[in-house]
Amino acid sequence: MKIINLNDNENKLYYIGGVVRDEILGLKSFDVDLTYVGNAIEFAKTLKNAEIIKINEPFGTVRVKIDGKEIDIASTRAEIYEKAGHLPTVTKIGCSLKEDVSRRDFTINAMAKQYNSGEITDYTGGLEDIKNKQLRVLHDKSFIDDPTRILRALKFAVRFNFTLEENTKKLRDEYLKNVNYDMSFKRVKKELIETFNLNSQTAYDEFISADIYKLITEKDIQKPDINIEQFVNKYKNLINPQNIWLIYVGTVRDLENLEPTLTKEEKKILDDFTLIEKRNPQNDYDIYKMFEGLMSETVILYGVMENSDIAKHYLDNLKDIKISITGQDLQKLGFEPSKKFGECFEFILKEKIQNKHLTFDNEIELAKKFFE
Ligand code: ATP
Repeated sequence: MKIINLNDNENKLYYIGGVVRDEILGLKSFDVDLTYVGNAIEFAKTLKNAEIIKINEPFGTVRVKIDGKEIDIASTRAEIYEKAGHLPTVTKIGCSLKEDVSRRDFTINAMAKQYNSGEITDYTGGLEDIKNKQLRVLHDKSFIDDPTRILRALKFAVRFNFTLEENTKKLRDEYLKNVNYDMSFKRVKKELIETFNLNSQTAYDEFISADIYKLITEKDIQKPDINIEQFVNKYKNLINPQNIWLIYVGTVRDLENLEPTLTKEEKKILDDFTLIEKRNPQNDYDIYKMFEGLMSETVILYGVMENSDIAKHYLDNLKDIKISITGQDLQKLGFEPSKKFGECFEFILKEKIQNKHLTFDNEIELAKKFFE
């Protein structure tokens, strides 16, 4: 729905990138990118009923609020990659539309649609590539400038069921033989999240077989002998959707490059995984103790890596077992607090793991028996 009211002769505002691609594909777009050919900040100031919320002068972008809705408008801009793999430097604000689209990743993401007339501008052959379901870079140095585009290609290929055009695939494969690890891993992480939160085994198979994982580590990896997508689906209600990517990317093990980009929770999931002792549990109590207190994502990652029936058994049958009795209850029974309390709780837990249906009263009886 159009919410910006423009004069009929205003022809410099365009929808650009993903939103144009998605509309042609008949899909709903998550966000709407708008570009103004010229200076978007100056343009925004001329808009009636638009409140300016935020201005980013160096990038020439502006956020406006119209009818209660916030929209971002970018100026057309040209960029160069002074340092391969890092954020580009803006060299010109208010360049031509042609120059603006030429800094983009794939032809399918380089189309513009005029806001007023709806006319499509397609300088790079995006329409043809959409027809042929192909992803094509705009120039041969594209992956060297920005290796995260390799992950973006994987994401779009899986999302739209597209393939890489022949030369694009060749350029990707060449780059992956000689990755320059001096890159912005923050951006790599963002694309890993977007790719693997799709929860797709197809994406993972390609990630491994095409050596895309070499973007994160130089070491070779052992592909787990399990269908991760099915495993994740089985335990979806135990995984924070934001963490699905970690179940996939955690299989790479050597995540030193990503380390500085990880949140506390992400670090915990991965660190705890490396700390799980590969015990040979003899009974349910041993299994319970092996995973006790860990986040489900850690146990699921272990299940994936070890193709482990133990992890499944824990998640299916043991995870939620907890004793109800507390230290206060023991004191009410007349016992003095001591380290014996802890031993008593373990004793009751052991019993409860064998018989989940123990009631609170049963636990009280067991406590009395323990202190006899
Ligand atoms: P999605 O539907 O996943 O949001 P999108 O194409 O809208 O897809 P964004 O990451 O929002 O993706 O990027 C918006 C546009 O910016 C893209 O369509 C593309 O034209 C351009 N773009 C994004 N990332 C890059 C990149 N790494 N290199 C070049 N152009 C990019």
